[in-house]
Amino acid sequence: MRGTRTVVPALINGNDVTATDTGLLARHDPSDGSRLPDVVISGSDEVETAVAVCHETFASGAWSALPPADRGAVLLRLADLVERDGALLAELDSKEAGKPIRECLAGDVSAALEALRWFGGAADKLHGSTSVTAPSEVGMTLREPLGVVAAIMPWNYPMAQASWKIGPALAAGNSLVLKPSEWTPSSALHMARLAIEAGVPAGAIAVLPGSGDVTGAAIAAHPGISALSFTGSVDTGRAVLRAAADSNFKRVSLEMGGKSPQILMPDALTYGQALIDHMIDSAFMTMGENCTAGSRILVHESIAGEVTERFLGRARALVVGNAMDEATDLGPLITEDAAARVRTLVRQAVADGAELLLGDPLDHPSGPRFVGPVVLRVSDQGSEIQQTEVFGPVVTISTFSSEDEAVAMANDSLFGLAASLWTRDIDRAMRMARAVQAGVVSINSYSEGGMSMPFGGYKQSGFGGKERGMAAFEQWTQSKTVWLQLHSDQPGGVRAAE
Ligand code: NAD
Repeated sequence: MRGTRTVVPALINGNDVTATDTGLLARHDPSDGSRLPDVVISGSDEVETAVAVCHETFASGAWSALPPADRGAVLLRLADLVERDGALLAELDSKEAGKPIRECLAGDVSAALEALRWFGGAADKLHGSTSVTAPSEVGMTLREPLGVVAAIMPWNYPMAQASWKIGPALAAGNSLVLKPSEWTPSSALHMARLAIEAGVPAGAIAVLPGSGDVTGAAIAAHPGISALSFTGSVDTGRAVLRAAADSNFKRVSLEMGGKSPQILMPDALTYGQALIDHMIDSAFMTMGENCTAGSRILVHESIAGEVTERFLGRARALVVGNAMDEATDLGPLITEDAAARVRTLVRQAVADGAELLLGDPLDHPSGPRFVGPVVLRVSDQGSEIQQTEVFGPVVTISTFSSEDEAVAMANDSLFGLAASLWTRDIDRAMRMARAVQAGVVSINSYSEGGMSMPFGGYKQSGFGGKERGMAAFEQWTQSKTVWLQLHSDQPGGVRAAE
């Protein structure tokens, strides 16, 4: 098999590593079930080598000591190369993740470009501070790179995720070890090669594909890695945090799951089709395999009937099919197991008393990895379907009768990643935005906010650092206080009174 099939390699010091002691991982195209190239499982040896090379490069200053504006210029060149290869990157993500090609081309490529250009531009705008001191003293802070840092990533937004990590980590001068998801390693690998083409030293970026229990675990436990930015599920977040504590207390930032509410106040329908379109995107973009999916619609009882009818009308028209087909709105879920889990959760919800408004039959004619849009009417806010991150095209609709009740329902979750809120009443909007426990609240849209704004969760959706905006540099730099004592009584010294 190995002789005839191309393998997705690891990339260390600019070289492909096509064989390891830990073997290969088999994968299939989620859309048609055809075999995709096997993925090299990077083991402790590869992690060791990659970290050593990254350390050497960091110490050499080839990247870390470049003037920040020069690092920024390289990132801007990388963005141009990503733009050049945008169609290829979109195809890689679509085939490996089952994401609709239209979404990859329009959404993910532009998200990657925006991030790389934003952080390229920000590289030389990272300021420390000075404090008010006595005339004989100066206090200042320096923002410094951490050395060798790592990122462990999920499979749902592969190239966009990679750009959110590459942009700030490299802009700050670190060397970066990237671990893409076992299902979707190819776009990160391609972007790392483009980074080297753009001028990043080959030893400043490594990509280590592989499984979580082997590759991810070895990275999380490695004592030579100073910081780890993790995006993925809550269970893995826990494991990563433990491994960091058990090794070198590398600083960890966690971006995890969500169960985000879409709150519709009585005047929400005055936004007409825009409201319904945003609701559909929020619920079903990337088949609902989206951390900020608005999977709980909370609607005021006075408009619930009309909202439900219009939402169902749009949801029924969504095209389910092969991700590479331009007409497709919903591709397959990432694996057969993932789709089976979603169906089980929906069946359980119905058994628990939810009403299935859309989604019958659950066994989609396109095959076992496909799940069409599912809409459930739910009243029990404590039920499993209302509390669990489904990570599929499943949305629930519940009604409320007052602002207080809406906020209480929105906050009735272990998660707090995002929320959207629809009303024309600005006082109410700001009052509710403050009361909702979520890292991002978008008013009158489904949005994660622009690149200049911090993104990250409350509660069990994460902590330890934000992505995007200048706040992202908190994850990827450390702050040093420099305290300078001036001696005015020494030869050449300054006099306090002068
Ligand atoms: P996952 O936790 O299964 O895997 C994420 C990454 O962790 C993968 O690269 C995996 O190989 C690795 N991993 C698994 N076990 C590991 C271990 N023991 N040690 C170290 N690494 C390990 O998550 P997933 O299924 O890839 O992604 C879906 C989850 O990601 C959802 O919960 C979703 O909400 C979340 N997510 C969050 C955000 C965000 O920004 N908050 C963005 C996208 C996805």
